[in-house]
Amino acid sequence: MRVVLEEESLRDGLQAESRLFSLTEKLQVVRLLVDAGIKRLQLGSFVNPRSVPQMANSDVLVSLARKEFPDLLCTGLVLNEKGLERAVRCGLGHISMSVSVSDSHSRRNVGQPAAKALELMTGLIGVAAAAGLGVRAGVQCAFGCVYEGAVAEEAVLEAVAQMVAAGAGAINLADTTGMAYPLQVKSLVARVHEAFPEVELSLHLHDTRGLGLMNMVAGFEAGVRLFDVAAGGLGGCPCVPGAVGNVASEDAVNMFHGMGIETGIDLAALCRVVDYYETLLERKLSGRMNRVLHALPTGNGRLGI
Ligand SMILES: [Zn+2]
Repeated sequence: MRVVLEEESLRDGLQAESRLFSLTEKLQVVRLLVDAGIKRLQLGSFVNPRSVPQMANSDVLVSLARKEFPDLLCTGLVLNEKGLERAVRCGLGHISMSVSVSDSHSRRNVGQPAAKALELMTGLIGVAAAAGLGVRAGVQCAFGCVYEGAVAEEAVLEAVAQMVAAGAGAINLADTTGMAYPLQVKSLVARVHEAFPEVELSLHLHDTRGLGLMNMVAGFEAGVRLFDVAAGGLGGCPCVPGAVGNVASEDAVNMFHGMGIETGIDLAALCRVVDYYETLLERKLSGRMNRVLHALPTGNGRLGI
């Protein structure tokens, strides 16, 4: 059995950091990730560089990474028409787009109510799909919202229905605020699978309340085989108070391998990415396995790094 992990630290992780990463540093992260066995990589977002300067070099990074690693599935986050144009110009064949089903979060994040944001997004999905791009459409706050509390499954299903009708071939359910619980994940995944069996479903889980890995297992048991992760557990959301990052890539790899499920990723090599991030950011990151591996006595031939 096998799962695929899509690495998000260069986008979801670095957008939450005040330190600006240079092109050289980002490219070094890509090289270390590829070296560890990462096959899917979200390289950045195509948003206004004045609002998110951390992502200003996404276009060039995509071009360089595609040239150096032609087999790597590169993707980027697109939220508007201008971003779509930029993604196409630098040669991306696959993009992520997403909207929030929570009105309050949507207004804070993109300055529009959820219904309006969805309408604009479905239009954009149609344009991207017609241009031959692979589109993964995401539902932010699919499991709850810090401003609005519970989010109805029906609201998520309705948003998914509209995005699939517009041409999205893949759907990502995001626990943006880290409020999901394992049985809730199982329930929503089952309903989306049942309603849209042809759609590739993935999960984007933040570990805000310490339930990231549990929710990942719940999603796996419900049939999900593609998960977003971020090395070191990097990330957060400027619009979500108290937010922390995605499930740490190295912790997800350790968990799946321990359960006999392949990821194609080398844990010790992946931890070199975490080391690199920690050196540049001058702090320890929240993921567990890098610390565990460093604390183990070396020379046991298995885990010491
Ligand atoms: Zn996220």
